[in-house]
Amino acid sequence: MKRLLLLLSFALLVACNKDDHQIKLTFLQINDVYEIAPLEGGKVGGMARVETLHKQLLKENPNTFLFMAGDFLNPSLIGTMKYKGEKIRGKQMIDVMNAMGFELVSFGNHEFDLKYKDLQKRFNESNFQWISTNAMHKNTDGSTSPFQIKRNGQKKDIPRTYTLTAKDDDGTTVKIGFFAPCINSNPKKYVDYGDFYESSKNAYRSLENKTDFVVGLTHLKQEQDEMIAKMLPKLPLIMGGHEHTARLVPVGNCKIAKADANARTAYVHRLTYDTKTKKLTVKSELVPIDEHIQPDDKVQGIVKKWMAILDDKIKTIINKPDEVVFVANTALDGRDTPIRSTQTNLGHLIARAMAKAYDDKVDAAFFNGGSVRIDDQLQGNITGVDVFRILPYGGSVLKVKMTGRLLERTLKYGRLTKGKGSYLQHYNIDYNPDTKQWLVAGKPIERNKIYTVATSDYLLKGLDIPFLKPENKNVKEIYAPTKDETAYDVRNAVISWMKTLMHN
Ligand SMILES: [Zn+2]
Repeated sequence: MKRLLLLLSFALLVACNKDDHQIKLTFLQINDVYEIAPLEGGKVGGMARVETLHKQLLKENPNTFLFMAGDFLNPSLIGTMKYKGEKIRGKQMIDVMNAMGFELVSFGNHEFDLKYKDLQKRFNESNFQWISTNAMHKNTDGSTSPFQIKRNGQKKDIPRTYTLTAKDDDGTTVKIGFFAPCINSNPKKYVDYGDFYESSKNAYRSLENKTDFVVGLTHLKQEQDEMIAKMLPKLPLIMGGHEHTARLVPVGNCKIAKADANARTAYVHRLTYDTKTKKLTVKSELVPIDEHIQPDDKVQGIVKKWMAILDDKIKTIINKPDEVVFVANTALDGRDTPIRSTQTNLGHLIARAMAKAYDDKVDAAFFNGGSVRIDDQLQGNITGVDVFRILPYGGSVLKVKMTGRLLERTLKYGRLTKGKGSYLQHYNIDYNPDTKQWLVAGKPIERNKIYTVATSDYLLKGLDIPFLKPENKNVKEIYAPTKDETAYDVRNAVISWMKTLMHN
């Protein structure tokens, strides 16, 4: 009798937990996250809020996995600061991400902003899995090998592919393959970007027979993602990044999903896979990360620790870092590509502020686009901290007298280096492409006339524009501001001009 009962209950157990061949998975995707704390005066973003969403999804389905589709170690204001004698350079992000339990992260172009030795430190500090399908380490002898992570004295390659195995309550098991190509837009001596197209194809081929399906965790331009989706018609999903604005692009059976930068939104992909019919459905939902989500305590604690370090440093320059100094009704464009190739509204505003720092007692103002390091558009409330995020390196605004000859040569140089950091943003300066003439206050530059311009102390060092140096005989006079002047720190000059705009 006892035996029969035991057998019965066993049969019942089996019946209850019979594999239904169906498994549900949730993929939480973020990409292009430079800031650990919320933005726009606390309104949007913030990793502590992302973690709350992550935990909610885990409650809904234990088979929830968190992904980062590249660009997270740089740029950020805090990354430019020093902590315990060392530049922070993305350490804050690794610290936060380690507390969030990422399943997989891929490289973005900005990871390679870091020097090799700093990137290596970040790898070693991380507790999560990295993947890189095409970007390899170029050794000093020219050979290439995978990047390696050193943990507990052991070195491990960052693989080209990754397989995730998930199992649900009734035992349905699924294997998902991942590949992760990265755009080659950031050439570095220590990086070898293999062909992202070829290496993605090879990675896919190596995964397709040993997994149930394959997903891309990419960091490419949308049109490149589209090429991959067309090349691999069975691919159901690409979780991508790089564009900074959310999109869900269907290409055949594939969906290319990108969330907004800085975790303003996150993508939640709910997948259902039938291991018998091999049918997969993907439902994607873009979730705003905002004030409606309570920050997770643990992650919030880590974010606060880093923000306190930042606050201390900023307070040595401005009193109220969190004060709203401007409301941008039109987004201010500080993205890398525009700021280094065309005059943007943000570039104009900064140059305008530089002239204003000298009560407009200058003919014009200019500065190098490369000093803007935010790679983002800013909208809504702008705080003092945001201005520091825009211009993390600061520096003084100088008042310089120079000949029209040198001014024109400088402006030409800036124009010729379109796409580079030495591209110039300016105020009260125009270029007429028809006559190929440079104008100051609407009038063609006179070569022998002396112009007074506001520009950055950095530019006068000749690092970006080799001939723009104090020793150049066409530089007639340099005025450097004293500590109590607004012009002493360009961030103060910008904040002060923004406040004037806001109150008018
Ligand atoms: Zn990118």
